[in-house]
Amino acid sequence: MAEIRITNLRKEFGDFTAVQSSSFTVADGEFFMLLGPSGCGKTTTLRMIAGLELPTSGEIHIDGEEVGRKPASKRDIAFVFQMFALYPHMNVRRNIAYPLASQGMPKARIREKVAEVARILGIEEILDRPVGGLSGGDRQRVALGRAIVRDPKCFLMDEPLGALDAEFRERMAEELRALHDRMRATTVYVTHDQLEAMQMGDKIVVMNHGVIEQFGAPQEIYDMPATMFVASFIGSPPMNLLPFGGRLEAGATIVEMGGARLGAPALREPFAGDMAYGVRPEHVLLSDRAAYRGEIIAAEYLGTSQIVTLRTANGEVKARIGSDRAARPGETVGLDFEAGAVTIFDARSGRALRSALNEGALPRG
Ligand code: ATP
Repeated sequence: MAEIRITNLRKEFGDFTAVQSSSFTVADGEFFMLLGPSGCGKTTTLRMIAGLELPTSGEIHIDGEEVGRKPASKRDIAFVFQMFALYPHMNVRRNIAYPLASQGMPKARIREKVAEVARILGIEEILDRPVGGLSGGDRQRVALGRAIVRDPKCFLMDEPLGALDAEFRERMAEELRALHDRMRATTVYVTHDQLEAMQMGDKIVVMNHGVIEQFGAPQEIYDMPATMFVASFIGSPPMNLLPFGGRLEAGATIVEMGGARLGAPALREPFAGDMAYGVRPEHVLLSDRAAYRGEIIAAEYLGTSQIVTLRTANGEVKARIGSDRAARPGETVGLDFEAGAVTIFDARSGRALRSALNEGALPRG
């Protein structure tokens, strides 16, 4: 298997820059997610790694070798676009064997390889069935089998679960992750679905408008968003971002807002200007004694918890609280924020200010 190292990768289509200047490394054996909204440059990045698109500039190293100008067929990569793309006139065995047969591998060796892959995927019983009558899950397994059988250096997957309904999608996501844990094959996976990225990825790159906003482990990205974009793209509902302004000294742990003094993690450097106080809904507590006030405007019951929307002096705030607490629209309550989970952002650049909480998680510069 292989490490993939991307350095200053850029792609222009005429006047339009689809990928600005990406740098990241996918470690050997890692399940790596490229996450972002539609049009942010995920697929273009993946296609450059695959060799289906030439970079405008920058480098792609696979296992130490620069492959940016090498044709796709010479990169030893399996690109899984759409897992349902099978050859309908062939049975399962021939579908899986196809890449090996077209390489001219001896028949006996092909049989062994197909049997091994079928065992890994748990599809030995269906090897001689036509693909036409298979269930969606089995079709997906066969398509994966066809990718795995070649023993490629790495797998590239572009929204492979995109066409599936929610329940089935979740099951296949679990299966893919379990398969990865068995095979430990370096995988780069494109998705616009933050839950899928959090659920499956070892590492996530969050992209927006062709720029990498943050790169890190799922929990790091969730707990310590590097930008306001990441804060609002990840999480359901996303992080609350309450606008405020003024001056904060280095080491300050109090922010004055809406006539109240709110806790915040100590900043590493002083800052003056427009800011946003970022706090996730599960770190907002309703407390009668708190000085920061809000009026409940809606409550959404979710079984074990509820999402309460409040109107405050700094805009709407969402709180995730236990469903046993009565939350009546029109009621005015106090809000407490868990200071140890707060991120303060520079509202103009959108970047998180370095603090005791996120030290180490933010990119330098
Ligand atoms: P999606 O999930 O919608 O595919 P994405 O993040 O994968 O989004 P890309 O497919 O990488 O986005 O596209 C990034 C931008 O580059 C888009 O604005 C797209 O219109 C543009 N683009 C992609 N391919 C080309 C091309 N061949 N010529 C011109 N523009 C292109």
